[in-house]
Amino acid sequence: MSLKASSGTTGSVPGPPSSSARGEGLSTLAQAALALRATGDLGTACAIACSCAVRALEASESRLLRVDARSGAVRLLEESGVETPYLPEHGGPVEAVMRSETALFDDGSAASAVRETLLWTAPPAALATIPLTTGSMVYGVLLLGFPGPRSFSGADRMLMQTFADGLAMTLERFELRGMLAEEHQRLLELERKKSADEEASSNLMSVVAHEIRTPLTAIKAYTETLLDSLANPHTPRERFLGIINDECDRLTRLVTDILDLSRFEAGQRPLRLSRFDLQRIVQEVADSLHAVARPRQIGIEVAVDPSLVIEADADLLRRLFLNLLGNAVKFSPGSGVVRVRAAAQGEEWTGSVEDDGPGIPPEDLPRVFERFFRGRQPGEQQVEGTGLGLAIARGIVELHGGRIWAESKGTGGSRFCFVVPLRQMASPAARRIARQIALRPDLRALFDQTAEMVAAAMDAEIVSLMVVDPDRGDLFIVASRGLEGQNLAERRITVRSGVAGSVAAWGKPVLVNNIETDRRFLRLNHPQYSTKSLLSVPLRVEGEVLGVLNVNNKVSGAAFDEHDLALMVALVERVGSAVERTYAYPDSGRAVEEAREAVRSLTRLRRDYLLGTRSVVRLARATARELGMTGADIDVLGYVAAIHDVGMIRVRDQVLCAPRPLRDDERQELTQHPEVSIEIIRPLEYLGSVRELILSHHERWDGSGYPRGIAGEEIPLGSRVLAAVDAYESMTAGRPYRAARSRGEAIAELQAGAGSQFDPLVVEALLRVLEREGGES
Ligand code: ADP
Repeated sequence: MSLKASSGTTGSVPGPPSSSARGEGLSTLAQAALALRATGDLGTACAIACSCAVRALEASESRLLRVDARSGAVRLLEESGVETPYLPEHGGPVEAVMRSETALFDDGSAASAVRETLLWTAPPAALATIPLTTGSMVYGVLLLGFPGPRSFSGADRMLMQTFADGLAMTLERFELRGMLAEEHQRLLELERKKSADEEASSNLMSVVAHEIRTPLTAIKAYTETLLDSLANPHTPRERFLGIINDECDRLTRLVTDILDLSRFEAGQRPLRLSRFDLQRIVQEVADSLHAVARPRQIGIEVAVDPSLVIEADADLLRRLFLNLLGNAVKFSPGSGVVRVRAAAQGEEWTGSVEDDGPGIPPEDLPRVFERFFRGRQPGEQQVEGTGLGLAIARGIVELHGGRIWAESKGTGGSRFCFVVPLRQMASPAARRIARQIALRPDLRALFDQTAEMVAAAMDAEIVSLMVVDPDRGDLFIVASRGLEGQNLAERRITVRSGVAGSVAAWGKPVLVNNIETDRRFLRLNHPQYSTKSLLSVPLRVEGEVLGVLNVNNKVSGAAFDEHDLALMVALVERVGSAVERTYAYPDSGRAVEEAREAVRSLTRLRRDYLLGTRSVVRLARATARELGMTGADIDVLGYVAAIHDVGMIRVRDQVLCAPRPLRDDERQELTQHPEVSIEIIRPLEYLGSVRELILSHHERWDGSGYPRGIAGEEIPLGSRVLAAVDAYESMTAGRPYRAARSRGEAIAELQAGAGSQFDPLVVEALLRVLEREGGES
């Protein structure tokens, strides 16, 4: 097949290929479609797509760009499967195509046109830029370059678009397969965890019951004996009371251990960090054990580097050494020696505790850290214990980000070893990202705007955004609201300490109802916090926790709730993906600027009374749950319910406040607000489902809505929920130009609209929710 442009030119621009060439082109495309369907590898798909597109369409070169579904970052996909970040040229065809989702054909007549120069060795004369879309999701962009000017006939365009549609479906398939595999993995994980948890909890119950019964039986027996012999002066009262006292102590120990362990295992114990000299702590523990060790002539040798200073939770480390040394003494033969060592090794310290006891059978080595595991002690008297000591030791080491294991010494006896970071720091990956971020002063402005936006959206007086310091590995305040006049430079926190440090370490958002009674944190409130409730949410970039957003003092004085938390998580996720996009393009200021603009609009929502009210968010989420939607979909809907009217910012002045019928142009503008909303949040939002929900929330069940006039189940379920909830809310709350209606009237209106304006099933679900709420209030 000839690569030269065919004849039939008009002026300097050659015409489309002849019909026989097109016939060949069609068959190449058909083959490509088959090959694309069969391949399971992205690089191969790219190779097939590019070579076939070039052949079939007589292009000289082609490029395939992929759009990351989560962050919206654009990457050049190469045939090797390698992807490199690519920043579309400002005002260029890729940017335009991603925005409008329609193809652009540049015939080469305007020599000055932007042709995405960095993509080619020699920029093409003519360029076709075709979006790869399915539904409302842009999966990528295909670029076809032509060596000379070229006109594109309708048939050409159709051919290219058909090819692009096939390719988009392939990319979507890869995306969906990835998501499916992730989901599957998550489900398996959940199932595994659930059955392990169930088993563990039923084991725990029976073991706990058993462990508690032993001391209780003793206490009961001795108390009864004492009661029966009140009159008998020869009863050894003191001894019996001593036994009862010891058994009570044992019960207390057991209960404390179980409680501590459950908190460690739930990852719910922030560290109270300080810097101290380890030798002193270990020596104190060793001294406290001498009373037990000395009668059996057991020696305890402490070999801890005297210059070793660590940053850790001192109480927990005392407990770690007490448990390990306690076991070692317990299992040592008379006159044995217990050795404890510790020394620094790079950024970590290593420790070990060893004894000359019976050692641990190889099959027990991996199990000794399980809770309630107790090895058999052949031939010897039963050694006292709860079987929780080592589980607690492991919990302590892991809470510090370290690891612990058991070994058998070659000469008999056991050795417990552990490695723990010298200081609590953010992960190396998070610090690497933080270093890139630190090079971008313009991100400071985005962070600042984010603090403002979160304060507005969450209705909070105090917001602080902390990010990882790449050099020190702790977190500092990079932006805040409501903390003016305070010395922010000093308010650094260490990873794993306090609420924010725990969120940085756990990577999970936290809702604290009352900081003074929350068992996880148990601390006194700082004076600047007038309410006891707070939210702390991780800011993730490329999967790593780059920082933490903290929110205190709700203006209303009320406590934050799960709906607030879900909204804040959604907002912070979007900021994270905007940062991620700038991170992918180290020298672009534009991505940051666009994200700032979007964040600024979200900030305005509250001021303009366009932030979905709390009741809209709550009702939308409750109705979604009633309809059996999944957790992730409910969260997306809750977020959309809060921000979907952002497009109204641009039209509200003319429309919302007008106490008169709308003029045609105003009505026209009003009906465009879903599209305007999408446009505004685009720099933060690449999740197709969010755009789709916003776009469709004014569609009607019977197809008479706007902007697309779609009907029935073509309208996404979330949008159908939002339409009903929005209508109910606006009827009961009223508008400047319309009085509020009663709840009963609004319900009647919803029922009347079921089947025409609203999805009847959605109305039913919403009414059930309202009824329940009515019953509660
Ligand atoms: P406890 O000592 O209260 O039974 P632990 O969790 O501390 O509970 O230990 C669990 C089991 O691990 C013990 O029952 C014992 O079988 C084994 N083990 C722990 N430390 C040693 C040691 N130093 N030498 C031999 N076996 C040990």
